Amino acid sequence: MPNYYNKDLYKILNLTFEASKDDIKSAYKKLAKMYHPDVAGANGNIDKFKEIKEAYDILSNDEARKKYDVLRGFYTQRLEKEAEKSSYKNKYDTYIKQAKKHSEKPESFSNSINEALDSLFHTKNIKQKFKEEIKTPINGSDINLDVNVSCFEAITGTNRKVNILHTQPCPNCEGRTFINGAKCTMCNGTGEISLQKKINVKIPKDVKQGSKIRIKKEGNKGLYGGKDGDLYLIVNIEKNPYFETEGMNILCNLPITPFEAVLGAEITVPYIDGNINVKIPPMTSSGQKLRLAGMGLYNKSKTKKGDMIITVLIKLPQKLSKKEQELYDELKTISNDDIRADMNAK
Ligand SMILES: [Zn+2]
Repeated sequence: MPNYYNKDLYKILNLTFEASKDDIKSAYKKLAKMYHPDVAGANGNIDKFKEIKEAYDILSNDEARKKYDVLRGFYTQRLEKEAEKSSYKNKYDTYIKQAKKHSEKPESFSNSINEALDSLFHTKNIKQKFKEEIKTPINGSDINLDVNVSCFEAITGTNRKVNILHTQPCPNCEGRTFINGAKCTMCNGTGEISLQKKINVKIPKDVKQGSKIRIKKEGNKGLYGGKDGDLYLIVNIEKNPYFETEGMNILCNLPITPFEAVLGAEITVPYIDGNINVKIPPMTSSGQKLRLAGMGLYNKSKTKKGDMIITVLIKLPQKLSKKEQELYDELKTISNDDIRADMNAK
């Protein structure tokens, strides 16, 4: 490292680090006259003049001055002074307010801040420093929330009240974590607080298992002008022993009695807002499937509709009356169809 880094070159020229280029030039001229042996004669001091000349050579060269200033710490001191002159603290508060106002449109916020900074400061470095001071906008994170709906609500859509836990900038310190040099007590210095919020959400028609519904700006709040996050509802279509969904189809397990299986029947099955009648043909076996076309969910582009697929399950009565018992006994005696003949032949 050159020797002069240990010296205060400004002091040699009777200046401070805030000196302008003109200040440096005129200080040098003045001191050169005082110490250059050729000019000052008997009062001249060649060593002193050499020192002055060296200080001037460095400080009058932009590149060399910057290097020197950075190493000696004058560079940051000067930035701070200039920022203070521009009362950037007040500006900072104004921009925080603006940031809140513009939180709907963060792009316009960053445009306005860039314009304001351009007019405020001439040097890029100060502008950069100022930007760092006001902190880069932080976008709020998204919130994911599971929401349960029935099969039929998945077809028709529905409304739900959901509770969400938001984080948002602390209103006391406005997200800055400190107030007058002390840690903010409201947020304990984290800059954000959690708030419970109840909102009404609309679940659209034809949602599928795992569908993601985006509710804009209901996620966590952005900081320093950053965008608010979104709320995502993840649809869970509730299963029960009788209904569930599979993609666009609704699957239904339909219990029928042994005599409905034999004789056929017309059975009422619950559907959206009421019932539908389902015809069971005579001699329907357990596990047989019936397809009701177009009674499922629409696809995403609403061009194709799924079906309702009914699986028939023969369910035995839990209790038999005496009369029923007698009738089954009679059936057993008179029935002569050997349904296991094929199996026994093997
Ligand atoms: Zn706070």
